[in-house]
Amino acid sequence: MTKENLEFKTEVKQLLDLMIHSLYSHKEIFLRELISNASDAIDKARYESLTNSSIMENEKEWKIKLTADKEAGTLTVSDNGIGMTKDEITKALGTIAHSGTKDFLAALQKKEAKDNPELIGQFGVGFYSSFMVADRVTVISRKAGQDRKDGVKWESSGDGFFTVEDVEKEKKGTDVILHLKEDEKKYLEEWEIRSIVSKYSDYIEHPVVMDVEREKDSELKKGEKVKLKEEEILNSQKAIWLKDKSGISENEYNEFYRHVSHDFTDPARVIHFKAEGTSEFSALIYIPSRAPHDIYYKDYRIGPRLYVKRVQIMDHCEELIPVYLRFIKGVVDSSDLPLNISREMLQSDRQIDIINKNITKKVLDTLEDMKKNEYDKYLSFYKEFGRILKEGIHFDFSRKEKLADLLLFESTKKSPGEYTTLQDYVDRMPEGQEAIYYIIAGSREEAAGSPYIEKFREKGYEVLIMLDEVDDVIMNSLNEYKGKKIKSVVKGDIKLDESEKAEKKKAEKKFKELIELIRFQLKDEVKDVRLSGRLKDTACCLVAEEGAMDPHMEKLLQSMGQSIPENKRILEINPGHPLFEAMQAVFEKEPKSLMLEEYIKLLYDQALLLEGSKPKDPAAFAGAVTKLMVKEAQKA
Ligand code: ADP
Repeated sequence: MTKENLEFKTEVKQLLDLMIHSLYSHKEIFLRELISNASDAIDKARYESLTNSSIMENEKEWKIKLTADKEAGTLTVSDNGIGMTKDEITKALGTIAHSGTKDFLAALQKKEAKDNPELIGQFGVGFYSSFMVADRVTVISRKAGQDRKDGVKWESSGDGFFTVEDVEKEKKGTDVILHLKEDEKKYLEEWEIRSIVSKYSDYIEHPVVMDVEREKDSELKKGEKVKLKEEEILNSQKAIWLKDKSGISENEYNEFYRHVSHDFTDPARVIHFKAEGTSEFSALIYIPSRAPHDIYYKDYRIGPRLYVKRVQIMDHCEELIPVYLRFIKGVVDSSDLPLNISREMLQSDRQIDIINKNITKKVLDTLEDMKKNEYDKYLSFYKEFGRILKEGIHFDFSRKEKLADLLLFESTKKSPGEYTTLQDYVDRMPEGQEAIYYIIAGSREEAAGSPYIEKFREKGYEVLIMLDEVDDVIMNSLNEYKGKKIKSVVKGDIKLDESEKAEKKKAEKKFKELIELIRFQLKDEVKDVRLSGRLKDTACCLVAEEGAMDPHMEKLLQSMGQSIPENKRILEINPGHPLFEAMQAVFEKEPKSLMLEEYIKLLYDQALLLEGSKPKDPAAFAGAVTKLMVKEAQKA
């Protein structure tokens, strides 16, 4: 068949352009990326061969071969892995922009990224890094299980187009041929290749081999030397997770972390352990220090790699960890699971369940230890992943308390940027304070100025400030901590002062009819009108019923297009505010006063504003306020 000329997807074009023109340092990582792709391709093929031996051409020796041809100026990375069909190669290397590509491009616009080409790996655009050193790249591939005539040749100079054509290829697998640029020929040198492989790909489980020339004593003529080519393995292939902890340096741990996570910041903690007994497995788990760019995406892949007796079964096994620990990376190697375990089996497997429990415990213990002994590190971990971790309170009932101890909050008694734990909060509670209080707000300033916490401030009660909408769900699920109820300051009836009881009774009597009137006028808007126990300087506010959804959460869900049942609020009025004295006086003179009617409307609109909502009719609200302003000004 003839050659097809195809155009790269726009994002890929932009990416290539950057690869070719903007990234100058650390170019050698292209080799790491190609070896990593080759290794993945072998893992896939080997896994297939477990269940479908007929298509695997009886492979006995999985390997990645590097070939430097000085005459042709090419460096070739070959693997005998799964290979690609024409359709697959066209998509994988040209017409599909990985989800990471756009983010990568956006990140690259920033100056710092230009100096950090390590980002390339993180964004999964590894193959294209070839164009940093090559002015033409040829890929010849044949999918495992297909005929020799079903090979495909892909080629591009990185200039916006690529070609694909049918070719013959003798064996399954892929050859990536880099036609090196004139000034990048150093990558043909044996020592250069060796040093890159040992720096970046030493732990790759499959042998990375190269033909090397060695001078040997001639067997024919004594005293003479002959040059012989020998295939040599360049990497040590050690399965680092099976090694003894004491023999592994921090550097090795970090290098392996880069390999499994594509993250180039060192991890915050490494957890390496072997379990023996009912379940035998080794785990090498990392707690990252920085969140990957796609952690909140739908297609973010959860879970460590799963190996069974050193054979990789899958890249991400989500059954191995609870979803709220989805930030962790690493490897689990089980000795008990069958090699041909399927996805369906995983879901109900007892061994997997045991591993999951073990890892969860280790990770939570490690976090606890970090919080205690390396607080700054924990704090930066928490800022990256706290939002995910606290989902556990909602979903993992059995570990609710343990997780609660890992939470950090801003609070009215801490300066901005400082955090408190629930335990510290409880330790600081003054006598008489019965519950733990929190407020959900859009910002710290909004929380600090909120009328809902006036009384709390007056009484010296600390209020936890939560800036995340999900916090309301989390706090509802937590419900209590060390026997203390957890309450939102915007919900339920707050009674902070028993001593004010008598006064409140008196006020209730005094304003009884006025309250009736307000209740009647606002009957379609609010559920009830009552005197407030939480206000000091503000005239009124809206509160939700205990157990109802926080207004911030409601708004978030609405903005996401979810319809939520209408939840009427309770209007609380502050009997100590002079406004009510004044309104009462008007009421006594003329209960049907139009002015009173207007005021009640304004009262409700104000309360809406304080809650963070909008008056139903902003124009009418503004009109009423200006009318009052004019009246006041005319008096002056
Ligand atoms: P990533 O490896 O992060 O997915 P790449 O750009 O390096 O990104 O590769 C894109 C895709 O091309 C891979 O996901 C894989 O499907 C395919 N691919 C690349 N190299 C090989 C290879 N040696 N063998 C088989 N498929 C490969």
